[in-house]
Amino acid sequence: MKRIGLTGGIGSGKTTVAQIFKTLSIPVFEADNVSRELLQSNQLVVSEVKLLLGDDVYVNEQADRSAIAQIVFNDSSKLKALNGILHPAVFSSFQKWSDDFNDRVPYCIKEAAILFESGGSEQCDEVISVTAPIDLRIKRVMNRDEVSKEEVEARMANQLSEQEITTKSDHIIVNDGVEALIPQVLRIHSLFS
Ligand code: ATP
Repeated sequence: MKRIGLTGGIGSGKTTVAQIFKTLSIPVFEADNVSRELLQSNQLVVSEVKLLLGDDVYVNEQADRSAIAQIVFNDSSKLKALNGILHPAVFSSFQKWSDDFNDRVPYCIKEAAILFESGGSEQCDEVISVTAPIDLRIKRVMNRDEVSKEEVEARMANQLSEQEITTKSDHIIVNDGVEALIPQVLRIHSLFS
């Protein structure tokens, strides 16, 4: 069984593409969601995060994600340390999750916004990236999250550029609203099935 990474910049359409793979019965590990769950309920992660950022970042045992973001996006050493807690936890969670398929599927997918930045691509045999023109990505996220252009651009500034992502990828899916997604997904699916 192959482990395939799926990544792309914010608003490129990773989640949309992942949904199409799911309809083909391909299991998808959503790394960003898993990371949120671990921050909330993995006891080791919770205690390490409290040690790093203080007990106050949990209120009634709920992770206060905006308080955490406020601290780490103003202190790069704390951001690095938080990633040092979360990334290995996501890494081992994906390892266990994918091992459980035990070759019952031809391949599974790890979807992650920061697949390369987190080192998560090292667990993947091949990587697919989703691309779209930057103006379209900004518009999509503004509509989806009801945020300003500046907020989207600030989030983009924390990610690799689309060019850096595609250079490191083995397969590219163009999601520019012109090229149809399904035939592109089916072509890649046939390579791994
Ligand atoms: P993020 O990194 O923020 O999680 P993402 O790469 O997962 O983003 P999606 O959530 O899949 O991106 O897409 C962003 C928004 O654009 C969503 O609201 C989605 O429905 C919409 N979208 C994506 N692709 C298309 C498309 N081809 N046509 C129309 N809308 C699209």
